[in-house]
Amino acid sequence: MSQTTILGNGVLVTDTQQPEVIRNGAVAWQGKRLVAVGNEAAVRSQFPEAAWLDACGGVIHPGLVNLHHHFYSALARGLDPGANMANFGEVLDRLWWRLDRALDLDTVRISAELCAADCVRWGNTTVFDHHASPSAIAGSLDVIADAMRGAGLSAVLCYEVTDRNGPQQAAAGIDENLRFLETTRHDPRIRGVFGLHASFTLRDETLRAVAEQRTASDGCHIHVAEDPVDVAATRETFGVGPVERLARFGLLDDRALLAHGIHLDAADFETIAHHGATVIHNPESNNNNGVGRLDTVVTSNFGCRVGLGTDGMSSAVQRALRSAFLTHRGATRDPMSGFDTLPELLGNNVEIARRFFDEPQLGTLTAGAPADVIVIDAPPPTPIGPENTFGHLVYGLSEAPVRHTVARGAVVLENFRHTTLDPAALAVRANELAPSLWDRFHQLPWGTPFLGSAS
Ligand SMILES: [Zn+2]
Repeated sequence: MSQTTILGNGVLVTDTQQPEVIRNGAVAWQGKRLVAVGNEAAVRSQFPEAAWLDACGGVIHPGLVNLHHHFYSALARGLDPGANMANFGEVLDRLWWRLDRALDLDTVRISAELCAADCVRWGNTTVFDHHASPSAIAGSLDVIADAMRGAGLSAVLCYEVTDRNGPQQAAAGIDENLRFLETTRHDPRIRGVFGLHASFTLRDETLRAVAEQRTASDGCHIHVAEDPVDVAATRETFGVGPVERLARFGLLDDRALLAHGIHLDAADFETIAHHGATVIHNPESNNNNGVGRLDTVVTSNFGCRVGLGTDGMSSAVQRALRSAFLTHRGATRDPMSGFDTLPELLGNNVEIARRFFDEPQLGTLTAGAPADVIVIDAPPPTPIGPENTFGHLVYGLSEAPVRHTVARGAVVLENFRHTTLDPAALAVRANELAPSLWDRFHQLPWGTPFLGSAS
């Protein structure tokens, strides 16, 4: 039997949906799974020989799930694009579509490692990433998977297929997804989903090829209506909106992950709900890009599941939750709002992660669940119970550092110190690579047509 470890001396919050809260709580695990959860004295008496990890009064919480990230953007920090960007289309064309073309496998790797370190630091133990590196497509998902395995994290990865760099690169993107999906289909920690950029950069031929070649259960991860340009360009070129278009190609199902959804209409939300797809809210990124705000209440009232992502802005999904809350209140000008749908977001992330990893107990602290556990270093200063954990989360826990991160039984952050990664060494390596990446970026032109050129 493998070593038992007990994590105790904390306030146990078992769940993000309907938690049990235990003041003197503890969890115990053996190998990769929890074996006991409850009152600390009871857990200790069950495993008197166990190793001990001290929560120091903090909140013992399930590891968090981030549903939409872009690791590849890590080296954009401080980059001056050297171009005016008057709207979202220009932000893509003049910043992100030049950055992704400038990436090679070395910069893909360091970007993933930097984000992995941040994910560990913020207790995000399961991450869905959406990757693009058009000059280094083949094998790029393996590089990212290696970084996640090295960090000790679980991840669902994809390559964003697009036509903007021409049909050969669209085909290469499809191949990278198919290859990766096949090699990770039974991997306990790393899984794939079929990546698509956005409707307005995808030709019908490409969507048809994806629909024909993927396995039906693969799902897809795509940007939808982040900005009006996606809706307008899709309607103009293809005669339908992006949601209807995905449905026509059979790409909407209960594993479809639709990032943003800001500029959709009632019919779109009804279609999404009908197919059981998920809309992913990315409030920090949406504010940063000035593209508007997803109305999570309206979306949820149509019966759509709404999840939460960081979209490359950070690796702290709990801070995205706080941002969602404040953005919602600011927009509604209602100081009582925000407690209607927002408490569901992190739980919806967990539900999706369970589906992709075939782990029905993932994201909850209960015996038999994967041992993904964090300690948030914020001993609650006021009464805490199932009825007010969301209030504690948005007003306190989301801003507090994480003391310990345990991912599938491995302590990857112990008393604020990484055990699998060295962030200082990563920063040194990143600083060696960033100047040449930025040089390549600045040599690249902009003016990329949304659908590329036919040749
Ligand atoms: Zn995104």
